[in-house]
Amino acid sequence: MKTVRTFALIMMMGIGAMGMAQTASSSQHTLSVQMEELTAPDFVQAVAKSEGVCLLPMGIIEKHGPQLPIGSDILQSRELARRAALKEYAVIFPPYFVGQINEARHQPGVIAYSHETIWNMLQETLNELSRNGFKKIIIVNGHGGNNDFLNYFCMSQLESPKDYTVVVFEWAPDSAYSAKFKSMLKSYKGDHADEAETSMVMAIRPDLVELDKANSQSGANQKRLSKIPYMYTGIWWFARYPNHYAGDAGKANADFGNFQLNYKADQLAKLISIMKKDNTIKTLQDEFYREAQNPLNTKQ
Ligand SMILES: [Zn+2]
Repeated sequence: MKTVRTFALIMMMGIGAMGMAQTASSSQHTLSVQMEELTAPDFVQAVAKSEGVCLLPMGIIEKHGPQLPIGSDILQSRELARRAALKEYAVIFPPYFVGQINEARHQPGVIAYSHETIWNMLQETLNELSRNGFKKIIIVNGHGGNNDFLNYFCMSQLESPKDYTVVVFEWAPDSAYSAKFKSMLKSYKGDHADEAETSMVMAIRPDLVELDKANSQSGANQKRLSKIPYMYTGIWWFARYPNHYAGDAGKANADFGNFQLNYKADQLAKLISIMKKDNTIKTLQDEFYREAQNPLNTKQ
């Protein structure tokens, strides 16, 4: 592709401009947004171009109802990151699927690593990204079962000084988005593999969605703990959704999926742009680490 374009450019500019065209072609070499596609020399350029911002899309390998592939969260978080990085350049970490998914271990194809492993894997990944020049890391989480883990993980970064900052992307719907979402939704908002999520996978890989199977299992809340209020317990999800399916995906469609993905990608692109320029988090972290070393000296 690249060669054809360069050749056409040379033909247009005339033989005399050939040297110039070749120089332009190599210096304007397009850097991929995906880390695994970069050469080592291009990686150095990509870190500079991204201003040290790396996106870490996190998925999981888990059942997604009877109709979606078990890698659905990886597909969605990576596509969201890709759409955002094409608007505002950042480097996207390779496919990452190490996370919290104990609640679905009874389902086929679920890869549930221990809590020690998911913690160490994430910490060591951040350490390695920082060592390679990425000082601003944005986690793009595609899996609800990671939410509590990621918040606790981020808070635990305060245990010891870090030379990087890590944030979790949190998109926020405005009233126009919410109104359009409601008008496009034909069933109801579930929690997992529902119409909204299935629509996103249809926008990305329609060939992997078996929509005719969506109603072959129940995605209804079975409320098996409704007699025990005022508490939290680890079995809550299984109590509600033993099929590891929460919603009714039968009417999913790609337009609905693209609407959601593009809205979220716009906000992620804005976050990338802000993170490039703003160093407030790092400044506050450094102030905190300094004061935490000797709290008795902290101004009262
Ligand atoms: Zn999912």
